[in-house]
Amino acid sequence: MSALLIRGGCLYPADAGARVIPDGSVLIEDGRIAAAGPTAEVEATLDPGRRARLRTMDARGKMILPGFVNAHWHEMFALRFPFKGAMRPPADRDDKPAFMALGGDLPQISAAFDVFHDQLELLTPDEAFAIARYSMWTQLRSGVTTLGDVGSFNSPRALARAARDLGMRCVISTWASDTVCAPGESRFRRTRDADAESSRIEDLLRECAASTDGLVRAWPTVVYGTNMSDELGAGLAELVARYDVPFATHVGALRNESEAMRAYYGNTPVRRFAELGLLSDRFMAVHCAFADEDERKLLIRANAHISHSPAKYGPAGESSLTETRAMPEFRRAGLDVSLSTDGASLPLGGMAEAMRISWQMYNEMYADPTEVLPTDALAMATRLPARGLDWSREIGSVEAGKQADLVLIRTDDWRYLLNPRPLEGFLALGGSMDVDTVLVAGRVLVEGGRSTGADEAELAADYLEALGSFSVRCLGIDPDVVAALTPRHGK
Ligand SMILES: [Zn+2]
Repeated sequence: MSALLIRGGCLYPADAGARVIPDGSVLIEDGRIAAAGPTAEVEATLDPGRRARLRTMDARGKMILPGFVNAHWHEMFALRFPFKGAMRPPADRDDKPAFMALGGDLPQISAAFDVFHDQLELLTPDEAFAIARYSMWTQLRSGVTTLGDVGSFNSPRALARAARDLGMRCVISTWASDTVCAPGESRFRRTRDADAESSRIEDLLRECAASTDGLVRAWPTVVYGTNMSDELGAGLAELVARYDVPFATHVGALRNESEAMRAYYGNTPVRRFAELGLLSDRFMAVHCAFADEDERKLLIRANAHISHSPAKYGPAGESSLTETRAMPEFRRAGLDVSLSTDGASLPLGGMAEAMRISWQMYNEMYADPTEVLPTDALAMATRLPARGLDWSREIGSVEAGKQADLVLIRTDDWRYLLNPRPLEGFLALGGSMDVDTVLVAGRVLVEGGRSTGADEAELAADYLEALGSFSVRCLGIDPDVVAALTPRHGK
């Protein structure tokens, strides 16, 4: 039996009582939390036999938090060259608002999402794995121990393989799109067979239900209501019921969405999901700032889960906070509002940055510094998204019996001097790169800011090689451009 004592840190368990334990310890046995609380109490549980088997990690000068649960994420690193990525000019003065900005160009978004479906199939299994592994490592390095995939530009099996290789958790899904709201047209058009889309995710649900490693699960998602036929929605509702899993989709994300959905489908987005039987307490609405008044009532009555990615919205030109105020209003109405990063071809703000923005913006909007306390922001990044993924019996807080998924952050420099609340100091001045140590199921995967298992230079080199070959072969990127932009590692 392996045992680890993480001793003497400022412990934030993110439990229902939002406790703070300034001198706290966590005892881990066989990957699970055997005891967590004040150091003296945890040490009192240690008989000499237990003590002899113990490795101790000194957490003085550090915070101990639950691992971050990022329930709305997309693996998109295969698009690093063309899609708002490496081929942009260094200067930013000629940038134009596009795609998701100014309310969103919905037909263009819908068409791009439908094209992704076929392009991502062109990744070879080795390319898909190398890209997934590097992309997911950037999340792990930032303190994310569990990812929720809401549709990736990658193969779900590559994500599962990468999660197991890295030792982190992932809820995998498919990039589901069977219709498009094409530019210049006035009604949705079918692009794929709805049953075929449903059976792709059903295969994953069946495989994951049979797996025993505890790291990989599956859930049905659709990338956007603009790309879902009624048949596909009804098919996925049946899978939610049969496999007893949550469901996620982007919905109510952009100002222009309702108008486009009325034009192409004759109904507004949240109402459609409700009529198809998908709106329930298993429904994770991603973004959702632009639900109308009645739709907000539907979401509240259903006790839906809202996932908010505030660190993404500024750079993308979305508007989820002040324009509608929906996110903090959902929270006030009692819904679980959790934080997430979303995904892009370059790294986005992480969970630490999302916590900072919710803490600052929600409070600023109400002129009330108690609207979101630092410990509320922490729960929104840990316990609440674990509940949204239906994984909260195992993860999301530091409590005896749960899996030992933990993050340690140093709090011994000038930012924290004489501040009795290190989490507050971290939200004000810290960020993803301050994550020092990451454990999943008691295994130390990052320590001192470095991977303990994976070779980081090799991860990056494998990623760049896979990215280059895929971009040239399948996306039509000039090989000279790829060569000129790709750094040579180790030279
Ligand atoms: Zn998203």
